[in-house]
Amino acid sequence: MPQIDTDALLGAWRGAADTMDEFDVLRGLVESQARLSPEDDTRAARARAALFDGDPVAALDILGDVGEIDLDTASVSWADVVAVGARAAQGDADALGALHRLGQGLQGSVAVAHGYLLARVAELAGEHEVADATWHLLKEIAPGTTLLTRRVLVVDTLARSTTDADAATRRVGATARTLVELVPAPEDGPRHVVEVVRALEERGDPAGARLVLEAIVAMRPTATEVVALRDARATPEQWWRERLPGLVATGVAAVLVTVGILASWPVWVPALAAVVSLVVWKRWRLPHTPGLSATDARVLAYIRGWLPDAAEDIGAGRRRVGLAITGAAVGFVAGALVMGVVTEGLLADLYATHAREVDAVAWALVLLAAFLGGVGAQRLLRRPLATATQQLVERQRAAVEEECSRCTCLRTVGIRGRGADVYLTRHLTGAAKDVAALAPQIPGATVSVHQCPMSRTPWLAVRRPGYETLVLRGVLAHVEEEATPQATTGGYL
Ligand SMILES: [Zn+2]
Repeated sequence: MPQIDTDALLGAWRGAADTMDEFDVLRGLVESQARLSPEDDTRAARARAALFDGDPVAALDILGDVGEIDLDTASVSWADVVAVGARAAQGDADALGALHRLGQGLQGSVAVAHGYLLARVAELAGEHEVADATWHLLKEIAPGTTLLTRRVLVVDTLARSTTDADAATRRVGATARTLVELVPAPEDGPRHVVEVVRALEERGDPAGARLVLEAIVAMRPTATEVVALRDARATPEQWWRERLPGLVATGVAAVLVTVGILASWPVWVPALAAVVSLVVWKRWRLPHTPGLSATDARVLAYIRGWLPDAAEDIGAGRRRVGLAITGAAVGFVAGALVMGVVTEGLLADLYATHAREVDAVAWALVLLAAFLGGVGAQRLLRRPLATATQQLVERQRAAVEEECSRCTCLRTVGIRGRGADVYLTRHLTGAAKDVAALAPQIPGATVSVHQCPMSRTPWLAVRRPGYETLVLRGVLAHVEEEATPQATTGGYL
């Protein structure tokens, strides 16, 4: 029986982990592969993996005594570059500078490999300016992985405008939208959201972290874990406080309408009062969010006006109008019902003698209820809105399940999250004994080997506490048999 090429198999899993920026898994696989072929010099790869996993001490340890390294000479080895990177990660500014210079003029995959190293070590060294610029550059030249996306989201959110609330809202909104669309979605696990929020907080921008959380909650009120993260950071406040000017203006308008009807004022007086109250409602808010700058507070106010994502997308404008009409109708009906009970029951005697006056007050209050229902529709109709979002989430989950129930072994190198679980249960089967025996060891993770029932492609499933399931594609190759002397025809066969 031909022997399975273990090196190729581990190499493929390792490549998949590298492609997906799963640094801890990558490190485990590199170590497993190195143990397999002790005669090969794997120090550079092992040191790089350790460094990417955030362990520069181990990286230097693996490289051993490398002595002085001058990256500004014509020929440097990859091990030298990694060693300088590890020193830079420990705070050596000269090393970071040399590593930076080395990247100037690099092209293609070499530039990507260098960029990753530079960005990661700058990050470990706390040199955020270098790291931010390099992640941004990588976003343009490297395949966009989840890790890269998250890093760039942090950089972009930090750089939002401090004076232009519209521009800042667009930035925060784009960050939230990207996080909602990453795999796993926030409903299936908030890992990406948590990482971005923590990074923002560590970089001294708790306001940005909070705005991103608020924006995701506005889009996806169904993401309960994100709602909890938001609630843990929200300062105690009552939403109506910021609306105090609007509420007062509306109350005054209601009184004017009543008096207007009673005193037979010209119609334009109550009409004007209603328009003024509407304008006040729209324009004036009291500052209500301690810890936010004036611009960020306005961003938050904008975000709170967003409607959650829905399965049927009929356009934000039309949804908003529909919502306002529904809210106003609910307010009107509720107000009319209450007034009916009051005038027919509680105040029946008064109504019998002063029908005109009671009617005036009652109608003003019913209109007030309709107005408040219209402007407060988003809060009033929170539950049906959340139901529409839940439908969208279910539809997206169904799409993932459908896709991952079929064989994608030909074009996919790795799957994470819900899709990985579906692939494991609906497509892959347990591995044959000889393949299963090749499961590598990855510290902190539980691994298992599976195979495609059709192509026999081996897949590695990795489960880590607090992380979504990950599956990585391997290759099934056989070691070439020892060449046996054969008579050849000396030409084409
Ligand atoms: Zn398959």
